[in-house]
Amino acid sequence: MMSAPMSAVDADRGGAPVSHRPLGILAALPQELGDLLEAMRAEAGVRTITHGQRDYHLGTVHGAPCVVTLARVGKVAAAATVSALIHAFDVEAIVFTGVAGGVGAEVRVGDIVVADALLQHDLDASPLFPRFEVPLLGVSHFSADAALAGQLAAACERFVAEEGAASAARFGTREPRVHRGLIISGDQFVASAEGVRALRDALPNALAVEMEGAAIAQVCHEYGVPCAVVRTISDTADDHAPASFVSFLTEIAGTYSNAILTRFLQARGSRV
Ligand code: SAH
Repeated sequence: MMSAPMSAVDADRGGAPVSHRPLGILAALPQELGDLLEAMRAEAGVRTITHGQRDYHLGTVHGAPCVVTLARVGKVAAAATVSALIHAFDVEAIVFTGVAGGVGAEVRVGDIVVADALLQHDLDASPLFPRFEVPLLGVSHFSADAALAGQLAAACERFVAEEGAASAARFGTREPRVHRGLIISGDQFVASAEGVRALRDALPNALAVEMEGAAIAQVCHEYGVPCAVVRTISDTADDHAPASFVSFLTEIAGTYSNAILTRFLQARGSRV
């Protein structure tokens, strides 16, 4: 049993006044982190703390202090992990990076969606509460932090401008487009034409579906911690989703994640 990770973090700073709280960076699956841990190791070394059956990696990327971890899949896993990032590692803000199913009509495999808001599509305590509303919290749509989401979207736009055409040619996708809007989350891998149609009918503004983002956004809302979510589209949540998801995750997700996070963290590091 670990003692108190906070004190370990402080000890690392040699007792000096804490000037910069770290950024929490998380994904569900290792492929979604790309080479981030290698980049941290190469820069200033990584210290790993195991807590609640997860490994939290502490270090810097482009000079910006970060705690990087894997949540695993689903809303509970995501909520538990983000709670630890907030309470045990005192993160200043949270960024989630990963893949998702495209739901919006214009959202294709290889596109990127940055959340402005997130909602739990499988939460339904009606008729006691409106469908999708978190009971006793009175909220269904959780906002991403506008500044953080803007920085992430800017990093995505730079990636598309600099490498979009080459990436499309390399992966056989269309040139990536960056979308901003609603991401919906639930404890289901959506993989049927009927399933994705039902989501579109219920939530016409939804751009992408995944399994963690809105849980993270709820916890961050409750604790007043800024958060942002970026998702690369691995599939279109229809009958082809399982095959499309697996090949995208294996072959492409890491490249996108590297490209986006590098640009985002470079810009952030230059402000530190
Ligand atoms: N054990 C599987 C788990 C994948 S679940 C594996 O490792 O292969 C799918 C993951 O990708 C979740 O983390 C979810 O957030 C995201 N995702 C991608 N496409 C999705 C879709 N169509 N529906 C729901 N989640 C999706």
